[in-house]
Amino acid sequence: MASDKRVILVVEDNKPSRDLMEYLLRFAGHTVLTSSDGADAVEIARREHPDLILMDLQLERVGGIEAAKQLAGDPDLASIPVVAVTAFAMSGDRERALTSGFDNYIVKPIEPTTFNAQIAGLLDAFGRDGGAG
Ligand code: MN
Repeated sequence: MASDKRVILVVEDNKPSRDLMEYLLRFAGHTVLTSSDGADAVEIARREHPDLILMDLQLERVGGIEAAKQLAGDPDLASIPVVAVTAFAMSGDRERALTSGFDNYIVKPIEPTTFNAQIAGLLDAFGRDGGAG
């Protein structure tokens, strides 16, 4: 049976939120990489080729939407699924995310009891469709 343990890059500038996702994903057995900035996240993706990227939209220097566009535009990185993690506080954020290189989205606040099931469902779906897009 193929392992369901993956390498997941969490990009979030809010430390409590980032720490919570890291903790929950590690608890599920995943290897977790973290970043608080979009430019840094693209560099990590180039170096580590994670299986999944969870990306906040509002980040420190380069925002999540710009970073997702850079990932989608790089032939070496375009196949990595990128999931927006957002409170969708701003009107139009959802539409902007889904038309900016994100493959799906998770709504904040993170719900600890269901987060890993949500991630497993996404990994399963991306595994079936190849994660491109
Ligand atoms: Mn943020």
